[in-house]
Amino acid sequence: MAAMPHPVTLIPGDGIGPELAEATRRVLDASGVAFEWEVVDAGEALIASHGTPLPEHVLESIRRNRVALKGPITTPVGEGFRSVNVTLRQTLGLYANLRPARSLKGLETRYQDVDLVIVRENTEDLYAGIEHRVGRDAAESIKIITREASERIARFAFDYAVANGRRKVTAVHKANIMKLSDGLFLESCRTVAQAYDGRIEFEDRIVDNMCMQLVQKPELYDVLVLPNLYGDIVSDLAAGLVGGLGVAPGANIGTEAAVFEPVHGSAPKYAGQNKANPTALMLSGVLMLRHLGEQAAAERVEGAIRDVIADGRRVTYDLGGEAGTSDFADAVIERMATSAPSPSEAPVAAS
Ligand code: NAD
Repeated sequence: MAAMPHPVTLIPGDGIGPELAEATRRVLDASGVAFEWEVVDAGEALIASHGTPLPEHVLESIRRNRVALKGPITTPVGEGFRSVNVTLRQTLGLYANLRPARSLKGLETRYQDVDLVIVRENTEDLYAGIEHRVGRDAAESIKIITREASERIARFAFDYAVANGRRKVTAVHKANIMKLSDGLFLESCRTVAQAYDGRIEFEDRIVDNMCMQLVQKPELYDVLVLPNLYGDIVSDLAAGLVGGLGVAPGANIGTEAAVFEPVHGSAPKYAGQNKANPTALMLSGVLMLRHLGEQAAAERVEGAIRDVIADGRRVTYDLGGEAGTSDFADAVIERMATSAPSPSEAPVAAS
């Protein structure tokens, strides 16, 4: 009997989002896993018809399906609406931001053997948005760190390490200076680490030293867990180590739902040109397949993407090639077809 299709909310986004979403959907549909895509729009274009860039039916769809794949959405600078991306994370309680950074063969980068997973706390720290002016010439931003959110993100990092065969978690902080706030984050990580003693190694690094070490010897590190702001900065650093924004996937995970999206934005200057690199959204799709328990399909899609990039003949401009977005998708689909297991190798489906 055919497996039930996975219901997934698909938000194409704007700018380069729709063409990347189309390419990614074709690749995921060719992976052998059945999806029931519920396509919903969000972003500036929705304001005229719905009065908001994030209509309630979009949130309802994600809550119902519990899983969404999302293209980038433009946030106007200055006045205008609040970032749809930040609102989604806060409204749905997506407390963990997961950003793997793994070297891809065929890309010219400074390192060939990076394999890092950045786990960023997504709800508090300086992103709590509590700021005020003090008189005319000063301003204060309040940094919020709680034991509950710190232990929750530490548990997420350790559970991820166990589930994915990783060996070590490094907590990153500045507890030497912010003894109370970052001190509490570190203390919470240490408490959680005890429950994984003997299974997953634990250590900590001060964030400035961490940045230097990642540039000098990234191969020493495995899973990193960080408060929101350091996580934002260090995950971009890690993306830079393995080839930049075009290849950096991400996931925002909570207890009720998970939204998978690339790290990059909507790159409006390339919109509609069939030029942008869909790898980051496709690899976000791979994270989604793993989240759905579809390990074999995840390996198949990731393997095909890696092979096409290593081959180098059908990659997009940012990776030194001339292929368009849709041609890259075709190359990945063709690669999956040629590397699919023969019927005698294929696992027997459970009846
Ligand atoms: P951006 O990531 O959109 O683009 C920066 C540059 O990176 C581009 O000009 C392009 O040269 C390159 N680039 C990015 N993605 C690429 C891809 N897939 N293929 C090839 N090249 C790629 O960053 P930005 O210009 O700072 O932001 C543009 C808009 O996107 C802003 O409105 C911002 O708020 C929004 N944004 C959205 C998200 C999100 O939806 N999660 C994330 C970041 C930025």
